[in-house]
Amino acid sequence: MLDKLIGIYAAFFLGADIPRGVHSYRIDKCLSCNYLSTRASSLNWRDRLRKILFSPPFCTLCKCQIYEKTSQGREECALRKYKNEFPLWGRIYVKFNSKKKMNLTNLSGKQVQLNYDTDNAEYTVSLERISSEDKSYSFLLQLDFEAKDFKALKHLKNSCGSCIATKLVGIDGRKITTQTFVKNQGVLGTHTKYIYVGYLNEQEVLIEERIKVVYVIF
Ligand code: SF4
Repeated sequence: MLDKLIGIYAAFFLGADIPRGVHSYRIDKCLSCNYLSTRASSLNWRDRLRKILFSPPFCTLCKCQIYEKTSQGREECALRKYKNEFPLWGRIYVKFNSKKKMNLTNLSGKQVQLNYDTDNAEYTVSLERISSEDKSYSFLLQLDFEAKDFKALKHLKNSCGSCIATKLVGIDGRKITTQTFVKNQGVLGTHTKYIYVGYLNEQEVLIEERIKVVYVIF
């Protein structure tokens, strides 16, 4: 609830925190969605009243005004939460208020959905569905270590050498940019692979974070 209130405050008073191109991409998706208030075939009485009283279009699932909702990197399309379907646009950032975790940003501009599962303390990157005719798919992630004890990147590894590969693109202080390639081996269905990020803290202790990568080849 607190996150939701912070998001509403940021959207209305601080403005967009994502690149303009990403914002336009998300708005276009909402404008063509049948859950948008201006396109929905049936509305309940509250939504009908709201539509009459307020002009800005809103999502009939989460009830947010779409221009503001799409302007925030932490937000995601409501389909996952309300319909358990893959969202039409993804979360750009996984950011923590505590300074103890690795923050993630999707830099690729593609439909890449980022999440952090607090129960399993696990990062997840879900990719849009990959056609069996596409030979490969790649995405860029920025890993941003806010922890004061980050000293140096030690390794980037993957769980499977033949179907996923991650390389270092650049390091800027505690910001590390990586590119991950998913190779289509012609096996249809859902695949789960991992990226392992190892780094040293100031006491020279090796710490490893794991990022789960989920994709569907159809
Ligand atoms: S947030 Fe998702 S479900 Fe809601 S209007 Fe936008 S695209 Fe449709």
